[in-house]
Amino acid sequence: MSTIDFSALDALDQRDPLADKRQLFVIPEDTVYLDGNSLGLLTHATQQRVAEVTRQQWGQDAISSWNKHQWVHLPRLVGDKLAPIIGAATGQVICCDSISVNLFKALSAALHLQRQRGEQQRTKVISTRDNFPTDLYMVQGLEQLLGAQHCHLQMVEEADLLTAAEDLFDAETAILLVTEVNFRSGRRLPVAELIRKAHAAGVLVIVDLAHSAGAMPVRLDEWQADFAVGCTYKYLNGGPGAPAFVYVAQRHLGQFVQPLAGWFGHAQPFAFEPRYEPAPGIEIMLSGTPSVLAMAAVDSALDAFAGVDLAVVREKSLALAEAFLQQLAASGLATEFECISPAAAERGSQLSFAHPQAYAICQALIDAKVVADFRAPHYLRVGFTPLYTSFRDIGVAVEQLTHIMREQTYLQPQYQKRHAVT
Ligand SMILES: *Cc1c(COP(=O)(O)O)cnc(C)c1O
Repeated sequence: MSTIDFSALDALDQRDPLADKRQLFVIPEDTVYLDGNSLGLLTHATQQRVAEVTRQQWGQDAISSWNKHQWVHLPRLVGDKLAPIIGAATGQVICCDSISVNLFKALSAALHLQRQRGEQQRTKVISTRDNFPTDLYMVQGLEQLLGAQHCHLQMVEEADLLTAAEDLFDAETAILLVTEVNFRSGRRLPVAELIRKAHAAGVLVIVDLAHSAGAMPVRLDEWQADFAVGCTYKYLNGGPGAPAFVYVAQRHLGQFVQPLAGWFGHAQPFAFEPRYEPAPGIEIMLSGTPSVLAMAAVDSALDAFAGVDLAVVREKSLALAEAFLQQLAASGLATEFECISPAAAERGSQLSFAHPQAYAICQALIDAKVVADFRAPHYLRVGFTPLYTSFRDIGVAVEQLTHIMREQTYLQPQYQKRHAVT
């Protein structure tokens, strides 16, 4: 017998101001999808848009589409559409490349800004040890390229950044590279406060919004962030490997160059000049030709956010997480699954639970059509995407989890085998 109170969950769905957004999405059949923090779902509009771009634009209008269908302006158009979602005025956000590549550009640009200010001794990049690895790897790559005397990474503990950030910044610190929401634990760092402390110490800040953009209010302009990066395939539903975005504060534009100086970042790309001259605006962050099919998908996916108040998204995200925790407790599983995510105010839009059998449990859940994910070494991650996750979904997920734990189905050998992508 189920311990889930579905009538209470249905009542929450009926009062949900975002409930009608769910119909915009292609929800996999009979599936509860709690993995939008890894890969957001497809919208019906995106499916049609990609079909249209291939059928009519590429198919019939071919090369004339660069002008006729504004292909050439997509990076900027998508950037400006995304800007309000991350609290940025227009002209500061552009869509291109991946987070990793955009980090390389932003790190290089910030180091250049420090040199321009006469702060040559500022060569240190501070980031947290359990940041998403690619963020750390990109700094290590730059260190290897430039030499440690020009760029070096200092990894610090997240707890130290939270309690005494000002003690970490010294006269050699150039950049704080901070990810707002920790991908493992779901902890949300106080970015506004960190930016204030960093600026007081002459340090520039690059914010990674991978698990923030589309999940909660972000206020880059108000926070006075210097640079930001983020992906569009998580909470923004842009599609697998969709191009990322990069933000540069208006005050820095025109003040720096970045080394991936491709022709799309030139002041006049179609003048075909042999000498690079950087674009004066946010286009300076572009390198090569935009990936039109992928970017058209992002453009269309962002329409799901039209008229959406991110504060309402945040409120529902926390309510979904609360419902999950309540149902877990009611099902007697709260002690078995140790929740490693902090309290509501200090976390993003996910809950992470430690369990020695997390991988196998996750596989069994997926088989039961409840899609969550696993992160090494032993965390089960449950992501909440308020545009399409319902409160009833939460009930079904916990019901299936309860069944798997009672029957110990996760012990079956097929659930113990690791796949390439976990
Ligand atoms: C998902 C994620 C990335 C991914 O980077 P890509 O270059 O887009 O593959 C980077 N940083 C963080 C914090 C992430 O969560």
